[in-house]
Amino acid sequence: MRDREKRTVRDLRRTNRSAVLRKLYFDGPLSRQELAPATGLSSGSISNVVAELTADGLLEEAGSVDSDGGRPRTLLRVARRSAYLIGVDVGETRVGVELFDLGLTELARAERPLAAHGYDVDRVVGLISDAVADVLRDADVAPESLLGVGVGVPGIVDRSSPGGAVVHGQTVDWDGVPLESLLREAAALPPEVPLFIDNGAKTLGQAEMWFGAGRGARHAVIALIGSGVGACIITDGVLYGGAHSSAGEWGHTTLQVRGRPCRCGARGCLEAYAGAEAVLERWAEIGGDPGEADEETALAAFLASAAPADPGEADDKAAALLEETAEYLGAGIADLVNLFNPERIIISGWAGLMLGRHALPAVREAAAAYALRHPLERTTIELGRLGPDAVTVGAATLPLADFLSRGGRGRESAPAVR
Ligand SMILES: [Zn+2]
Repeated sequence: MRDREKRTVRDLRRTNRSAVLRKLYFDGPLSRQELAPATGLSSGSISNVVAELTADGLLEEAGSVDSDGGRPRTLLRVARRSAYLIGVDVGETRVGVELFDLGLTELARAERPLAAHGYDVDRVVGLISDAVADVLRDADVAPESLLGVGVGVPGIVDRSSPGGAVVHGQTVDWDGVPLESLLREAAALPPEVPLFIDNGAKTLGQAEMWFGAGRGARHAVIALIGSGVGACIITDGVLYGGAHSSAGEWGHTTLQVRGRPCRCGARGCLEAYAGAEAVLERWAEIGGDPGEADEETALAAFLASAAPADPGEADDKAAALLEETAEYLGAGIADLVNLFNPERIIISGWAGLMLGRHALPAVREAAAAYALRHPLERTTIELGRLGPDAVTVGAATLPLADFLSRGGRGRESAPAVR
């Protein structure tokens, strides 16, 4: 009984800290007087929680505002430099690592190309560990002040194993890779700094929902289009994961039975038509020259050929391929509209942003042609706002979300259950 009472008090304290931190993080600076109605807490509770969070170094004063006739009210905000976050994007062509302060201002970044060696697990783990050490050194941040390291990966992430997250990346030949334990072993991080591993499309989705084109939406799908294609489905404000958190593998939904071979081993997947790797393969098949450089440069060359500034100079075959790619993408989006009835569909990822800049109207047109009219008329289709590096930002939001929901670090707040 005593234990239960203790736990209840602790839970309540954590809930209150979380409510105040979250409000100040997303809507601050605010005064204590504004915080009470905004969080539903009494002014007494606000005073206690603010005192605690300030003592932990997590809040700071941010000037004051006049109140009607009374004393000026002090504004409070989350102290950006009170803790740090690392986001890692295990992308298709590179590993990107960025160090952020609590306000997600980038302090240092490191990039390691993957191209020549592909996805050799040990090599990728080594690259991540080295890059994490590099950004900490470059920004002169002690590893102990990290809230955590978030990692976005291509593949399905299984968290049911006792040894930590295991990645099933069928398109990159990662078959049950125990990434969390491998990273824990390789990276020179204190044991109390947690690792958070999730699918890259999901981390990107969280970043766009919190800070980008998804803000304010309750029902949205964020499409990640790079070499391959993924999606993050948000229903009623919550990420839709399915029974084993693999939901959202939109890139491997079938658009054409017996169609083009896909990297997953099946045929006719959306990814085999709308992913950058597939577009570039198809371009080469009709005589295009993707060159020897990276995929991003090659896709830019394709777009310059298909949709040049002077439309009179467009290559007809390339233009037709772009049109068809937009149609496949639009048809895939129509499936999302029919299945999930989102308010908003956000096209992101480096290739999605590049294709979207030239083909968004055609994608919208195709979606309208293939989707049911009623839900389509209530859906907007737009481009992501966080740029091609949004997966890294999204990965950093994993430890940030944990911090906000715990109402602080596990270490300074009451011992919390993960
Ligand atoms: Zn596939």
